[in-house]
Amino acid sequence: MNSKYKIVIVISTLLIILSISITTINYMVSLNNTEQQLRNQSLPLSLDNIYTEIQKHIIEPYLVSSMMANDTFVQDWIINDEKNHTKIEQYLNTIKNKYGMFTTFLVSDKTQNYYTQGGLVERMKKTNPKNKWYYNFKQIEDNHEINLDFNEHLANSLIMFINYKIIGKDFSSLGVTGVGLKISYIDDMLKTFRQKHHFKVFFINEEGKIVLSERKIIKESSIDELEYLKTYKDTLISKESKSIEYKKNGNTYLLNSKYIPELNLYLFVEAKLDDFIKDVKNIFYLNLFISLFVSLIITIILILLIKNYNKKLEYLAGNDLLTNMNNRRVFEDKFQNQILLHQRSKQALSLVFIDIDNFKMVNDKHGHALGDKVLIRIATILKENIRQTDLLSRWGGEEFVIAYINSSLKDSQVVTEKIRASIDSDYILKDLNKSVVTSSFGLTQLREDDTIDTIISRADSAMYKAKASGRNKIEFI
Ligand code: GH3
Ligand code: MG
Ligand code: MG
Repeated sequence: MNSKYKIVIVISTLLIILSISITTINYMVSLNNTEQQLRNQSLPLSLDNIYTEIQKHIIEPYLVSSMMANDTFVQDWIINDEKNHTKIEQYLNTIKNKYGMFTTFLVSDKTQNYYTQGGLVERMKKTNPKNKWYYNFKQIEDNHEINLDFNEHLANSLIMFINYKIIGKDFSSLGVTGVGLKISYIDDMLKTFRQKHHFKVFFINEEGKIVLSERKIIKESSIDELEYLKTYKDTLISKESKSIEYKKNGNTYLLNSKYIPELNLYLFVEAKLDDFIKDVKNIFYLNLFISLFVSLIITIILILLIKNYNKKLEYLAGNDLLTNMNNRRVFEDKFQNQILLHQRSKQALSLVFIDIDNFKMVNDKHGHALGDKVLIRIATILKENIRQTDLLSRWGGEEFVIAYINSSLKDSQVVTEKIRASIDSDYILKDLNKSVVTSSFGLTQLREDDTIDTIISRADSAMYKAKASGRNKIEFI
């Protein structure tokens, strides 16, 4: 391969390696940053936000429940044998409407009656599994709790109950009261987290049951049914916040957990790594494409530059820039070809050697720059007087040579004389030099035994003869 294109290949390869390396390093750094940000900021922050949101929603119901439990009307009503159900019904209904609760309730320890804003609902029984919450709550030390429960009286939906013990003035237990609220806001919140932040949020209880999740998103009811999480169950059901990583269907997932003491639940936030690095990946492909495209453009520009530069170099190597004609090297090549052709076709071939007379004086009188102008003008005169097929060259300095192709000596003499007279009478030259510029010519014809050197040497000798015999003339050998 041409060595100039080897350079292009080397430069382009280096460029491609460089752009791929830089793009890849950038990609790795961005990937790592995104992953670290997700792991150390977004996920923990989301857990905290959800926790704060839940706390915010719990405060008011807590206050309302506390107020109900401490209400003297409620306490007196129980102490006074729960007469007139309408009164408690109205009370519960007022609280429900005033605070926008889904339900309000009261259970009397004495009668075990369960009242809601709609009136008496049922009598609590230890044997009824649905009433278990009441008996469990009575057992605990705290005077309040949050209970997430399905309630068949309440359209079978998941309700958050805030239970408060009613303690009389003598510290005797009178019953339990509180409020229930639909936790659809949690569902909305989980939906927002999934849609806005690509996080899947769910809550599990001590046993690993998925108690709260965005409906339709998680179908499983327990962590035991989630193959990829099962093994982490013991790690995750802990009062301490945890962060784990696992694979699911070939994708990497990050999961952070946090214990929510108010709900006695474990909050899980899961993120699919791919959702977060998608943009980084896309930017990587775009960068890669752009850098390869730029490399390609640079390669094309390099090839064009080298081609152009080479063309210029080739021109410079074979031509004289001042007169825009072939130099001696190219002339000799072309003339050699003509000699070879002559040997077959026997066509006539003449050579004339031209040297400007007293050119040194032109330079000395008017300077080198004007001397150049004289050379350019003489070159123009030469070009104008020869045929396109003839060969013309600046031999060196102020010497020119013309090869008349397929031209008899007589014809060559006529043309040479025309050239001599044109230079002699040229008013531009006269104007430049402030006097006539002349040239001497040595003409010769190709002979059978001639080489390029012998014929040139003969023309040169003829030219010197012309110089010796007074200049501004044509001599023939
Ligand atoms: P003669 O009639 O004997 O040829 O006299 P001459 O003064 O022409 O003698 P010679 O051939 O020794 O001088 C050639 C001069 O041409 C010398 C050199 O300074 C000048 N010359 C050669 N090349 C260039 C050129 O490119 N530009 C200019 N301005 N002068 C050049
Ligand atoms: Mg000379
Ligand atoms: Mg001269």
